Amino acid sequence: MTENEIFNRALNLGTGWEVYEVAFKPEQKELSIRIRTVKGSLHTCGTCGKPSCRIYDHGKEREWRHMNFFQYRAVILGKPPRVECEQCRTPKTAALAWARERSGFSLYFEAFMVLLAKAMPMNEVSRLLGEHDTTLWPILHHYVEEARQGQTWEEVKRIAIDETSRAKGHEYVSLVMDLDTRKVLHVAEGKDQRTLFDFKGHLLQKCGHPDDIEELCMDMSPSFIAGAKRYFPNVEITYDKFHVMKVIHTAVDETRRKEQRTVADLKGSRYAWLKREENLTPNQKESLLRLKDQDLKTAKAYHLKLAFSKLWEQETPEQAKSFLDDWYYWATHSQISDMVKAAKTIRAHEAGILRWFTSRVTNGIMEAINGLVQSAKRRARGYRSVKNLSTMIYLIAGGLKLKTVEI
Ligand SMILES: [Zn+2]
Repeated sequence: MTENEIFNRALNLGTGWEVYEVAFKPEQKELSIRIRTVKGSLHTCGTCGKPSCRIYDHGKEREWRHMNFFQYRAVILGKPPRVECEQCRTPKTAALAWARERSGFSLYFEAFMVLLAKAMPMNEVSRLLGEHDTTLWPILHHYVEEARQGQTWEEVKRIAIDETSRAKGHEYVSLVMDLDTRKVLHVAEGKDQRTLFDFKGHLLQKCGHPDDIEELCMDMSPSFIAGAKRYFPNVEITYDKFHVMKVIHTAVDETRRKEQRTVADLKGSRYAWLKREENLTPNQKESLLRLKDQDLKTAKAYHLKLAFSKLWEQETPEQAKSFLDDWYYWATHSQISDMVKAAKTIRAHEAGILRWFTSRVTNGIMEAINGLVQSAKRRARGYRSVKNLSTMIYLIAGGLKLKTVEI
């Protein structure tokens, strides 16, 4: 095998092309590989895919970045031909075996870049490859979008929706995930009715149907509730346990915050009331033991919280309903305004809270996904747009099969 044949095979140029010059430029740390079409060779039409077309003429020289050759940045240089396509009837640019149309990178380079992007932040990838990240993002968009287009969602039946803050401040992205496959299906900007409207649109495009969505797990935000009822009329809503408990925790915390203005002893006791007893530090445990049986509103609210958490230990929806009725009576007669308010919120969302005893779905896996999203944010550091962040989330939590070449 000659040196040129080795390059030809390693670059996967395909038939019809030959390497005719390989030049090292040590000062630029570059290896340039010049290629040309073989005389009389036949090529595939890049527009309609018709094979065995004769060359019509050659275009301008183009450059494709390839994977490094040791420490050398490798580039392929060549003039893609136009072919006489009988089907298209006008000269068309030939398809290239080593690169996508219009891409300035070889397929191997792209596959390598995608591999790196799964493992490290984009600014690292950019530094390592010596390419500006604005030229790398479109590669990820392409492969992720291609893989998403190939998805069908006809099996999707149980979903969860949750928001995650996009950055410090109040920008959110909402995630819709499949509770059965544990994959992120949809990332949407914001947190409102539109999230579910957009998801419905994608669902229909991907052979799914809103009527087939049986279970939806989410928090109690009015915009999600309105969106669910409007766009998924058959769905059963389960309010996520964690978010339900948060209503109670907030009430305990608010009660303490108000009461500590008059009871100095409560200062610094915040986490003693909120954390699980087994997770308390010795100091927190000590203040809880000292305070919990005193005649304090906070202590009373704390006992209401402990009692409420026993709800999840009920076995049937009927038992849970009667448990909740008792608790509601107790809470609304507690004379603790924040607790009364919380109890009314619970009452207003009772059906979705009790639904858990049938559906048993939670956004718990969303928490795991949230961890991935946080790492996606780190990986997409300087992600510049929601599109970049969504692409990164799909890449690491979407369970996609990307069609990159194998390297
Ligand atoms: Zn053609």
